Amino acid sequence: MVHAIAQNQEYLEQTLSETAQADPDFTGRLFTMLQNTKPTDIQLALCRYDYFITQKDDAHELRMVEMNCISASFAGLSSKTTELHRHLSKHPSCEFPISQTQLPENDALARLSNGIAVAHQMFIDRYKPSLPTVVLMVIQPDERNVFDQYMIQSELWNTHNITVVRLSLSNLCTNGWVDDTGIFCLKHDGVSADEVAVSIVYFRAGYVPDDYPSEKEWSAREMLEKSRAVKCPSVAMQLVGTKKIQQVLDKEGQVERFLPDKADSDAVRSTFAGQYSLSMKDDVEQTIRMALERPENFVLKPQREGGGNNLYGDNLKKALETMTPSQRAAYVLMERISPVTVENVVVRNGEHERATVVSELGIFGVHVVEDDQVVSYAAGALLRSKASSHDDGGVAAGVAVLDSPLLVEWPM
Ligand code: ADP
Ligand code: MG
Repeated sequence: MVHAIAQNQEYLEQTLSETAQADPDFTGRLFTMLQNTKPTDIQLALCRYDYFITQKDDAHELRMVEMNCISASFAGLSSKTTELHRHLSKHPSCEFPISQTQLPENDALARLSNGIAVAHQMFIDRYKPSLPTVVLMVIQPDERNVFDQYMIQSELWNTHNITVVRLSLSNLCTNGWVDDTGIFCLKHDGVSADEVAVSIVYFRAGYVPDDYPSEKEWSAREMLEKSRAVKCPSVAMQLVGTKKIQQVLDKEGQVERFLPDKADSDAVRSTFAGQYSLSMKDDVEQTIRMALERPENFVLKPQREGGGNNLYGDNLKKALETMTPSQRAAYVLMERISPVTVENVVVRNGEHERATVVSELGIFGVHVVEDDQVVSYAAGALLRSKASSHDDGGVAAGVAVLDSPLLVEWPM
């Protein structure tokens, strides 16, 4: 579904034109880039689809929180967390009888890296670059989640003999160029070569306005977009991940348009929570009245990634009461999901504490495309748990902790 949407430039332009105007400095810039670049022959996306588990009577259901189409992180660390929990569960001092089958294996790191390796080989076979060819990981200059990234880098080197170069957008302006054949090249101070070609541009930055402090970073991004390198993700795929597209998908017929198989579209739709447009083109009066009457039942989401941007409760109310209609159009309103809570033990900074937690399950998806051939597969999981008293905030914000699923008979 996400690939089919990314292919449909007209749909993206129509759906996002107002949002681009309402958020000109970020969504607007990406939107202009979309209009100025063509899709590449090979495409790669490493996505993560995040869910809460809810309970209705005796049945449990998945409710999608969001789709992440750029820089979906923690494949490395979540694979390690599963190993850690499997290791500890076998320890003689473990108080609970846990069998290994209750702790499902997690191959997120291997499978995501495999997707990169497959697309890298496709690039080499197709364009036969004359220079040694590397994968470029675009990173934030003050990146803190480095170990998760190093794990992918090591896996690509150890298992696939692929070199990864990590650089920020601002480094790329001075170190990179596009050659006559469209290949993106880099100055490289490695032992074997002082210039390399880039097969895949894997973005672990570029998804928030702060990643573009000046025009320099935007021009680096534009240079990458115009090259033949496989962008993971393309700007189109990055825009598929906007909250606006996710809201529009909840409208009747939209998922079905991209997933014609009824069993598929029903399965995807069954995970959706209600989402509402705040566009000036739609009649939003009833939506706003509904949210103001019961703000605790909704989440107000801007076109941002990375946690900590959503508005809840009084803040949601105040924002809806004071924003102009055109400011409002940069947001979507989502039904608030009430996930099941579990008593658990959280370890942070070497201290442990008991807490009532909610867990968000992320399922990684790899999508590799060459011409009309699409290969998509699920690629392991991430579980993040946090005290149920927190509205928002992820692992990087210090609110949630890395976790792994434990399969149990319910109720426990
Ligand atoms: P971001 O792109 O910033 O990660 P999310 O949509 O994932 O945006 O929202 C951040 C966090 O806010 C989620 O991890 C979740 O804890 C909470 N959240 C988001 N949407 C909902 C919702 N509909 N109901 C309840 N909590 C939500
Ligand atoms: Mg999120």
